[in-house]
Amino acid sequence: MITDLDQWRGLGRLLPPGEDEQFVDYFMIGEQEGGLGFLLSRLRDHDLPIPANAVAEAAVTAEEWGVWVRSEDEFRLLPVDESGGRCVRLAGPSGAVAIPDEDLVAWPWLACASCGAGVSRVCRPEPFGPWVPQHYRVEECWYEPEELWEALADLHSCCDDPECRLRWLAALD
Ligand SMILES: [Zn+2]
Ligand SMILES: [Zn+2]
Repeated sequence: MITDLDQWRGLGRLLPPGEDEQFVDYFMIGEQEGGLGFLLSRLRDHDLPIPANAVAEAAVTAEEWGVWVRSEDEFRLLPVDESGGRCVRLAGPSGAVAIPDEDLVAWPWLACASCGAGVSRVCRPEPFGPWVPQHYRVEECWYEPEELWEALADLHSCCDDPECRLRWLAALD
């Protein structure tokens, strides 16, 4: 699946009224990359804490639109609302882990607060040029690049918070 307008609007609700509409406008004109930059800069400018699971949701959206790597530093500076949903969150910054018998490395990316499982971005090391994920991996389950939301749904399967903003992911299982 790919991000639809309802999901995008859901991310926009992290912003103050008025700016959420601007964020939706980016989607309507097909400027999702610009929209994500707008979201990150406005959250930081307002110093608006957001739940850790909203940070993870925004990170998956950024990955889908190819801007996660260049936005990672900004993501890590977002103020996190510790009283909000914490079921899944960004994994701490760390190096790549070689995958035995494969010419691939796994970057820890997202983590489950309940069981400690994670989503890794699995890349083929390139001496020049960007390392584009070939797969996503949740423990021993591998996902194709277009299945990154399914990988998040897998990671999120531990969550039993009835108020969780990511409840809709259960429909992807
Ligand atoms: Zn878990
Ligand atoms: Zn949750």
